[in-house]
Amino acid sequence: MINGIYYAIDAHCHIYPDRIAERAIAGTDVFYGTHALCNGKVSDLLERAGKAGIDHAIVQSVATAPKQVQSINNFIAEAVKESDGRLTGLGTLHPDSEDQVGDVKHLLELGLKGVKLHPDIQKFKIDDYRMLKIFDLCEEAGIPILMHAGDDRYDFSNPNRMKPILEIYKNLTVVGAHFGGWTVWDEAVRELSAFPNFFVDCSSSFPFISAEKVKELICGYGADKVLFGTDYPMWEPQTEIDALLSLGLSREEYQMIFSENAKRVFSL
Ligand SMILES: [Zn+2]
Repeated sequence: MINGIYYAIDAHCHIYPDRIAERAIAGTDVFYGTHALCNGKVSDLLERAGKAGIDHAIVQSVATAPKQVQSINNFIAEAVKESDGRLTGLGTLHPDSEDQVGDVKHLLELGLKGVKLHPDIQKFKIDDYRMLKIFDLCEEAGIPILMHAGDDRYDFSNPNRMKPILEIYKNLTVVGAHFGGWTVWDEAVRELSAFPNFFVDCSSSFPFISAEKVKELICGYGADKVLFGTDYPMWEPQTEIDALLSLGLSREEYQMIFSENAKRVFSL
């Protein structure tokens, strides 16, 4: 619990098998020009989350090649199984997999509660025709998608790519990470906040924008559409919680952001 008041779910955590964690994090550090503050191992996540008062974490990992999909999903499911109820898992999919139906069936059988996609790392535009089969399958099966969103250096996941998909897939639940558009925050809230099936998380945003801007974004989307997420291992969970608490939102708003919205989106 946060401050003994708020049950907290961290809806955006990356984990890696111990033997490859260091290499995987080095890769994202280069891509974003950042330096991850934690090591990406399950044991480290659970320890830091516990210390920060985070009760539950939603974990994920992203396949950069189709052949990784099933093994990553097995790894996530295994981590969930061993976590004593502290973790929920999201699966990965890849647009170039030859068996999307099989991949979706497999991740559902594993008990995973959604899908994490990262267009900029997986190198697909959100509205790429290769993605339509995945969106069809997820919409039909009621699988929510946590989608990395936004990067003004590229054109994979910006609001212009997200919007047409939300217009077509009205029953697909999408959580746009980083307030719906990392580095393109204003455009994201303007273009995407009206979609009832579109949620956002607050991860990897506090270090880049002012508290005023964050409040404006929460207000723009509505506190009932914002999920708490840290983007572990990128940032220290405690620092992210402190930044969120410093905004001085109401008790109801914090309850929604810290857990209720995530429970609703991921059916926890
Ligand atoms: Zn992520």
